[in-house]
Amino acid sequence: MNEKKDLKSCSYEEIAQEMKDMGEKAFRGKQIYEWLHKKLVTDFDEMSNLSKDLRETLKEHYVLSGVQMADSRTSKDGETTKYLFRLSDDRVIESVWMKYHHGNSVCISSQVGCRMGCQFCASTLGGLERNLSASEMLSQIYEIQRLSGERVSNVVVMGTGEPLDNYDNLVKFIQILTDEHGLNISQRNITVSTCGLVPKIKELAEKQLQITLAISLHAPNDELRRTLMPVANKYSVKDVMEACFYYYQKTGRRITFEYSLVEGINDGEHEANQLCQLIKGLNCHVNLIPVNSIKERNFRHSSIQFIQKFKNILEKNRINVTIRREMGADIDAACGQLRKSYMDDMQKGD
Ligand code: SAH
Repeated sequence: MNEKKDLKSCSYEEIAQEMKDMGEKAFRGKQIYEWLHKKLVTDFDEMSNLSKDLRETLKEHYVLSGVQMADSRTSKDGETTKYLFRLSDDRVIESVWMKYHHGNSVCISSQVGCRMGCQFCASTLGGLERNLSASEMLSQIYEIQRLSGERVSNVVVMGTGEPLDNYDNLVKFIQILTDEHGLNISQRNITVSTCGLVPKIKELAEKQLQITLAISLHAPNDELRRTLMPVANKYSVKDVMEACFYYYQKTGRRITFEYSLVEGINDGEHEANQLCQLIKGLNCHVNLIPVNSIKERNFRHSSIQFIQKFKNILEKNRINVTIRREMGADIDAACGQLRKSYMDDMQKGD
């Protein structure tokens, strides 16, 4: 038997074509798309302007993959909620909802687990289980919007997984999320964070999207970067920088560099100066992140004095720099940690 197609991962044009192929009127495609991506229904039976017959036919041919909340934790200040979502194959992923005065942001996962192996990251400890479909990425946002009753205005693809390692589904996800017939989120309000898969950065640049690209740099030279991120054995810092210049040239979008500060490892004056040399001349912004320690590894975040000193050096070199505000530290909001503690509990049989 053929596997049923996931209708929620289809673009507006694809759904219209599917309906046409079924001998339905073209406007049915628009109706269905709006049910899925504007009214955010999760079941064909909720599509009340379709006939019962059509709903039954849809059920025969398609599935609607999605996510279901398994757990959630809200920080004491009420600004951050972390969601644990269950997928149709019972795997779990996590997403974070952050309330800012300028709007609500959702941080979503792009894969179940990750195979990039960054030393300081909890999401990669169990390796990659599978990619998320476009629908499963969208559903994290939709479900949070349904549960919170508030509109999401910004989306960051910075949760578990390497988005450019799931490139096709990521591009589909962006296409659907920004479609005027759906949630219609502006490309400028979407950030995709990558550990630096150079060929994929270039491919994405070719698409000339207006999304923000964030590069997880964490070290200004190859030697140091290789000790923190295995991907640095494949692509040099020079390759990554070339890809960033190319991305800027193609899109005109300012690049963000993420730099997690680990005490005694990458937080010295020498690294700060090297970083300035590396990125000067590129329209960019540096986000300094005090590393979140995970119990499996011995990394500690730099002291506030070191972080401030690092920042001052960048500022002296006229580089835009901010220190990321720690949100939800009391709810394991750091990458992959809620999922990780859930999986540990499952193994212990709790
Ligand atoms: N794979 C993508 C996106 C997911 S990680 C990427 O590498 O960019 C999102 C960001 O959090 C990355 O910059 C990542 O390096 C960083 N990160 C992961 N674990 C962290 C930790 N324990 N402390 C601080 N930053 C961390």
